[in-house]
Amino acid sequence: MSGRLVQRPGPAADVVIRGARVLDPAAGIDHVGDLVVREGRIGGRPDGLEVIDGRGMVVVPGLVDVHVHLRVPGREDCEDIATGSRAAAAGGFVTVLAMPNTQPPIVDAAALAAYEQAAQARARCDYGLYLGAGPGNLGALAALAPRAAGLKLYLDSTFGDLKMDSLDLLIAHCAAWPADRPLLAHAEGNNLAAAILAAHLAGRAIHIAHVSRQAEIELIRAAKLKGFAVTCEVCPHHLFLTLKECGLPPGYIEVRPRLAAQADAEALWANLEFIDCFATDHAPHTRAEKAGPHPPPGYPGLETALALWLTAVHQGRLTLDDVVARMHTNPRRIFRLPEQPDTWVEVDPDQAWTPRGAALRSRAGWTPFEGWIVRGRVVGVTLRGRPAYAGENVLSPPGAGRNLHPAGLNR
Ligand SMILES: [Zn+2]
Repeated sequence: MSGRLVQRPGPAADVVIRGARVLDPAAGIDHVGDLVVREGRIGGRPDGLEVIDGRGMVVVPGLVDVHVHLRVPGREDCEDIATGSRAAAAGGFVTVLAMPNTQPPIVDAAALAAYEQAAQARARCDYGLYLGAGPGNLGALAALAPRAAGLKLYLDSTFGDLKMDSLDLLIAHCAAWPADRPLLAHAEGNNLAAAILAAHLAGRAIHIAHVSRQAEIELIRAAKLKGFAVTCEVCPHHLFLTLKECGLPPGYIEVRPRLAAQADAEALWANLEFIDCFATDHAPHTRAEKAGPHPPPGYPGLETALALWLTAVHQGRLTLDDVVARMHTNPRRIFRLPEQPDTWVEVDPDQAWTPRGAALRSRAGWTPFEGWIVRGRVVGVTLRGRPAYAGENVLSPPGAGRNLHPAGLNR
């Protein structure tokens, strides 16, 4: 039973998956039964199709990662769009939203156009592209909003030069960016309070990236309870690792926000109902850089995230519904992402496996979860009727992914 789908023949196989649990909370679907897959679609008549044993398997909607770094342009030695989206497909993601702190950063029409072109040629899964806020682009961004997944405000230091220090500029960007388009912030400590207030006073929603500390999640909880339009995401490394006990060598340990204390991780677990999204902050850097004299911050995460959350399901800390809500339903709602018809992920929730950096599809070639035993593995991914991943092979070629924000969409 479990694991048999791993041998699924792959491309465009017309099959009946017998006895799998099909889960799509947004559509009110949660049942165990036969799933007919015919010509890349779920549904239709089972007559004449090969039957495979799906007992113990789960079929969920395509996952969305609202926070990835694909390192294009400028750092293709760490990752490019084809390798990053290859890692995404292997991790069960059909959509990635890519951050703008590239070299040069995505802060104007020319950079966005180059980014769009590169992604169109290279992406293996669907994608959206964020713009970065800065001192020089206040007046120019609103016109680009229909082509962007959102506007990212960097209020704290991270990789690259997009940090914004001025309160004036924070307030001005909150006012200038269209209120119906996503605005998100890297905002730690006091900057978190500033970002939430500035967005609230501008009468708009804001999404807080990678929340890592107790005081921060408690502030977000308090703001939500007051009715502020705040949403947030967490990343696996801030819930599964702590600074003291992560066991990572110097250099490899560097990430922003930094790993925190046990009490911080526990506060995140305790406040899951106020956490809207599970993102990865997939931030690949090579081993040579991480071991070098100036190690840049960031961990790769696309290929381990789902397994870590499913391990938490095994441990009784989460339910599968919680995971699907935070990796599909809420990201799609918050970021106003369009439907992807005929798109789903087959998961073996019981399969135990061990992440190995050398085996990952990301160019980073390492993982902070090296050697862990996790439970839950992606078996197959179908994106818009075409197999993106099956039998441990990424099948979608570069160029198969679509931009979810071509000009004019979602307006
Ligand atoms: Zn990031």
